Amino acid sequence: MTSKRLYYQNAYTTRFEAKIVDRVRNEEQTAVILDETFFYPTSGGQPFDIGTINNIPVHNVTIREKDEAVLHWLDTKELWQDEIVGQINWPRRFDHMQQHTGQHTLSQSFIQIAQAETVGFHLSDNTLTIDLHTTQMSPTQVEEAEYLANQIIWQNRPIHIRFVTLEQAQKLALRKLPPVRQGKLRLIEIDKFDLTACGGTHVRHTGEVGIIKIVKLERQNNQLRVEFVCGQRALHDYRLKNSIINQLSAELTTGIGDVVESVLRSKEELKESRRQLKRQQEQLLYFKAAELLKTGKMVGNTAVISHVFTSSESDPGQLRILANHLTKNDQVVALLGLAGEKSQLLFCRSQSAPGEMNQLIKPALQILGSAAGGGTAVMAQGGGPSMDVARIQQAVEKAERLLIGQIR
Ligand SMILES: [Zn+2]
Repeated sequence: MTSKRLYYQNAYTTRFEAKIVDRVRNEEQTAVILDETFFYPTSGGQPFDIGTINNIPVHNVTIREKDEAVLHWLDTKELWQDEIVGQINWPRRFDHMQQHTGQHTLSQSFIQIAQAETVGFHLSDNTLTIDLHTTQMSPTQVEEAEYLANQIIWQNRPIHIRFVTLEQAQKLALRKLPPVRQGKLRLIEIDKFDLTACGGTHVRHTGEVGIIKIVKLERQNNQLRVEFVCGQRALHDYRLKNSIINQLSAELTTGIGDVVESVLRSKEELKESRRQLKRQQEQLLYFKAAELLKTGKMVGNTAVISHVFTSSESDPGQLRILANHLTKNDQVVALLGLAGEKSQLLFCRSQSAPGEMNQLIKPALQILGSAAGGGTAVMAQGGGPSMDVARIQQAVEKAERLLIGQIR
């Protein structure tokens, strides 16, 4: 039940008539097998064509393993006529042709420039890559291979399709010989440049590829993955990058050639500003600590400082630094709270001061409806859900009463 694959000879036909010779049903979907077809099924690294059969969308085209029949998948349960009109979506087909012929050209270029064989090829809706079997490749070689490939494109060389037996193929200098199958091998030849076995759809002349641009290299073990774009994809890629670079240039009020330098300078300035800000915050905390110290309530010879900050006044990091500054002084206990997305309590004392912080934290956290906290006699902390300042104040006051009880 195999169908004749007419795209082998002609990749440019987009409308054709054929007969349904078999139907396959699978839950919601129906696939039809035609006596002959121009639809390309997913194979050899190239994805399927889309289009319509009798105006019903074809959303996938696959090869049935047992007999290599081409299955055209349709969103329908019924398709009763045997005579059909098939219509191939040309923009997608032509895109695949540009990318695939571009791939052959670039693969041969890497052999000629760097003796690097292509061992993998992948084409999808948004990426095109080849994997080169190589560990050594200089940036100059990459540029040279890209340039050679583009020269072949600009020379508009014809591309020949022919069929040979495996025996004949073995005598030819093929770039790639596929695993042996019965029947004939299909060869794609870029005139006097590249000869390889391939079942994909290709342009008639290299000029139709337009341009080949390598966009990314990625080393993986002993392979180099080369990502590139051809033809209309190169245009889209250029549009995108041109728009980005123009926006950057406008934002940075600098010429395109100075964008990188300008970004590096801005990064350096930002780093310096952050350093300055940190220094000033540290100074500020020092003064805040001095001010808080004045508000301390004397219990015996111990200064007890209770204070709750809003989230705009402080953050957990600053709270810790502040507590540190305060308890560097002799005979100080700091009972600090912080409101915010989470409420926080931080109780600590100088070594010389009395009080058991770990005994204060649990009862205080209870007021916040939390048990998430603990610590030592010198320092204890904990947090709870978001609470208003008044509630956190209550928790701190509770701790203060307990503390006074401990001291007296
Ligand atoms: Zn190919």
